[in-house]
Amino acid sequence: PQAKKTEEKKENAHQLGIEYTKEQNFSKWYQQVITRSEMIEYYEISGCYILRPLSYFIWESIQNFLDPRFKKNGVSNCYFPMFVSEAALSKEKDHIAGFAPEVAWVTKSGKTNLPEPIAIRPTSETIMYPSYAKWIHSHRDLPLCLNQWTNVVRWEFKHPTPFIRTREFLWQEGHTAHATTEEADVMVLSILDYYADCYKELLAVPVIKGRKSEEEKFAGANYTTTVELYVPSNGRGIQGATSHQLGQNFAKMFDVWFEDKAGQKQFAWQTSWGFSTRSIGAMIMVHSDDKGLVLPPRVAQIQVVIVPITYKDDDSNTILAKAEEVYNSLKAAGVRVFLDDRENYNPGFKYNHWELRGVPIRLELGKKDIEKGEVRMVRRDNGDKAQMKQEDLASEIPHMLNKIHNDMYERALKTRDEHMKEASTWEQFMEALNAKNIVQTPWCNVQECEKKAKDKSKEESLKIMEQAGEEEEVLTGSAKTLCLPFQPQTPLVAGEKCFHCGEEAKIKALWGRSY
Ligand code: AMP
Repeated sequence: PQAKKTEEKKENAHQLGIEYTKEQNFSKWYQQVITRSEMIEYYEISGCYILRPLSYFIWESIQNFLDPRFKKNGVSNCYFPMFVSEAALSKEKDHIAGFAPEVAWVTKSGKTNLPEPIAIRPTSETIMYPSYAKWIHSHRDLPLCLNQWTNVVRWEFKHPTPFIRTREFLWQEGHTAHATTEEADVMVLSILDYYADCYKELLAVPVIKGRKSEEEKFAGANYTTTVELYVPSNGRGIQGATSHQLGQNFAKMFDVWFEDKAGQKQFAWQTSWGFSTRSIGAMIMVHSDDKGLVLPPRVAQIQVVIVPITYKDDDSNTILAKAEEVYNSLKAAGVRVFLDDRENYNPGFKYNHWELRGVPIRLELGKKDIEKGEVRMVRRDNGDKAQMKQEDLASEIPHMLNKIHNDMYERALKTRDEHMKEASTWEQFMEALNAKNIVQTPWCNVQECEKKAKDKSKEESLKIMEQAGEEEEVLTGSAKTLCLPFQPQTPLVAGEKCFHCGEEAKIKALWGRSY
């Protein structure tokens, strides 16, 4: 085994670049990007992955972004157990119907069977609300707004994809109870805004806000709101995060009621909402390229790497001393900077090393640069190079990091917009879909119509695949509604017909093949 391990380690040391292109083999490309950049290590249990420091740093940045916003909105953090009894889990019938196939159960302790199997939380409505029933008596106890940062387990059947669809994942789940439905509506939407801001301000990813269809809403909710995003290379949509209005459905099942000001018994109006580590995968899919990771500066553990260029005949001590000066000035300016002064690697090796890991800015420092009082700056996101004055670095680099963030967002937005098409007939719809687009259509908003459209799109894509005789990833799978956008590209016109069933259209829907 020792020899095998040594062999494996040797092999890994040589696997420095990405061998697949994003356009030609997206899933292999993704797999190599996340492992070779040291974001993810695979684990022996399928669907479970190790988050290494580079990706956990991003998760911490997300926590640091969202947590203060929740608190400002009156939400407190807490922690509930991860186990739930079958009785509690099954109380809300739509909820359990939605989650049952994915629930993982603990049945034994050691060799002894447990008297009752206990479930591991797929989400915590049924764990938290019995306590809400105990804590809420009067309208003065409302609103009750709690959040927890936890792991959850969903034994998904669909093919697992690191970050995007995993069997254990990290998230926050917020759960609030209110005196009125209007208050709950306001909470749902303010949380959705935080989620959209987190994608935009932190991960540089544009999202589309909207409401889920009946078919796609959270099991047990009155309605679900969502932020949806688009992955250009395979044309798929990703559900970025969701915020649910639960109405009084759970309150009725778990006895969460209060006396209103008039002394009348009322059931509470509830919300729940979650943002998961899926967001990290979405960010990688949108921004990274054939050289590896491209990290938006605000979530990059290292924002700037300094590579001193020392050759034998150069005065390497002078160059290293300069590099340290630059390092110190950037550090003092609050930049997360790293000086790569490893002696046993040449500059070219170091460039590849940090490009693979997505570091937003590289500063090269050679003899000629020093003579001119300059450094060479290279951007990871677009490859642009520029000479910069050493004395300007501490003020210029923070601006440059912001500029990189904004440029990354704008590029992603432009690409997304170019791939959001409109269709008014089924033929137009399938054509746009098969060209890796997401598609807005006039729609009847009937659940049965969505189910049929799903099946039909699946059948047709199978046919196309057979005809093409090759396994093109983008053509697999059915289309579904991603959301009913709050702001459609163009508003619905009176008299428009549903693109699928031909009945009167009620709304604009955004469709796509989704993760
Ligand atoms: P839900 O409770 O189903 O509304 O999910 C809340 C959020 O968690 C979703 O919007 C997804 O972003 C995320 N999510 C759901 N399932 C998974 C999964 N298997 N792996 C990672 N993230 C997930």
